Amino acid sequence: MNVILLGLPGAGKGTQASRIIEQYQIPHISTGDMFRAAIAAGTELGKKAKSYMDAGELVPDEVTNGIVKERLQEADTAQGFLLDGYPRTINQAEALKENLKSLGKAIDKVIYIEVASEVLLQRLSGRYICANCGETYHKIFNPTKEEGVCDRCGSTQFYQREDDKPETVKNRIRVNKETTDQLVNFYKDEGVLIAVNGDQSPEAVFTDIKNAL
Ligand SMILES: [Zn+2]
Repeated sequence: MNVILLGLPGAGKGTQASRIIEQYQIPHISTGDMFRAAIAAGTELGKKAKSYMDAGELVPDEVTNGIVKERLQEADTAQGFLLDGYPRTINQAEALKENLKSLGKAIDKVIYIEVASEVLLQRLSGRYICANCGETYHKIFNPTKEEGVCDRCGSTQFYQREDDKPETVKNRIRVNKETTDQLVNFYKDEGVLIAVNGDQSPEAVFTDIKNAL
């Protein structure tokens, strides 16, 4: 079973990816791992990717597409794979389709873990840190026992990291939503999209995924 996992940051992709690969015994193929492996192996494309990364530039699509194609020819993908973090754009999605075709393969299902932007904002912007001892909390999932007082050291001073601030998170969600929506529509047209409600417990989300697969 050849599967792509889609979802905005904070939708719970990581958790579901672990469960899917365990349940279906297929390899988890993430872009980060793939780049690291190609670079470590010193392949032609790995060397190319590294030259862009070292220069602080984005790796061009043709290099990324080539690395994915190489990865999808390895023996462990014979029974299927779970792609995560790729494709990111319609261009990549189209290249993937062509590359799979040339390997006699195709995408069977695209799982989209759907969570409203407002819910993601709550999940991702709730983290705050004790300014004295560094203990981390979350407004919803892990608040201090007494409001405004650190459980560990009793300090009343807290701060949020730049990445966790609502404005930063909002921006990240907005940018990701544009590209994710395009991919969702692309795979809807291909007739392989499964949208799963991600605003429920991880167990319930996984049950929905299993039922859909
Ligand atoms: Zn503290």
